[in-house]
Amino acid sequence: MRKKIVVGNWKMNKAVAEAGELASAILGQLGHGFVDCEVGIAPAFPSLTEVGKVIEGSDIRLVAQNCHYEDDGAYTGEVSVRMLESLGCTYIIAGHSERRQYFGETNRTVNLKVRKALAEGMQVIMCIGETLEERESGITANIVTTQVREGLESVSDLGGVVIAYEPVWAIGTGKTATPEQAEEVHASIRETVRSMYGEAVAEELRIQYGGSVKPSNAAELFAMPNIDGGLIGGASLKADDFVAIVRAAG
Ligand code: PEP
Repeated sequence: MRKKIVVGNWKMNKAVAEAGELASAILGQLGHGFVDCEVGIAPAFPSLTEVGKVIEGSDIRLVAQNCHYEDDGAYTGEVSVRMLESLGCTYIIAGHSERRQYFGETNRTVNLKVRKALAEGMQVIMCIGETLEERESGITANIVTTQVREGLESVSDLGGVVIAYEPVWAIGTGKTATPEQAEEVHASIRETVRSMYGEAVAEELRIQYGGSVKPSNAAELFAMPNIDGGLIGGASLKADDFVAIVRAAG
């Protein structure tokens, strides 16, 4: 039985003190009663230390929104996996669609990040998903399969990997994939992983859904057999909503 995982991606929101307050409000509401669901929060880099302090000793995971794939060097503005680890992060999000869309990330760079994070002992949430144009052209399955295959190239052990299926047309738009639409893609992702790694690994792999998840639609999405939790953007910025979504998974 796969343990569900719900992660709040705060994106470029909340200055340090506000991030600390939001983390504190989430922790205050969740307490320690969410053992059936893994929970993480991904503040912007400057707030990782503050949020890490707030959630220290709790079961909430500290998650980074991005990383670089080199150890160190002349990469102005970038942050290495080891730096993130030293701040207490245990998960890194790789290849969010906003990184792909605005910052030129490709399956190749996502793969380098996934491999670096895993090599450093981190867990990775690898994001994939099709654009509206791709969906309307009927190539969703091809796009997602390629993202999985290329993103996981040369990754031999999937133990530290979570895949987040996030249809780009559903992110921050208020348009959620129906549970059936999401389930169809999740099942195809699991099938791809089955063909690459075998039955046991595919059955263990957690596949989150992301794209306008809210308290009102979370339970029906999470009830689908291949949906193992959510990557939550907008709704994770409100403690009440995020906690309600966690409870829908737990
Ligand atoms: C996301 O940023 O990963 C996301 C799914 O955003 P939203 O929930 O706002 O659509």
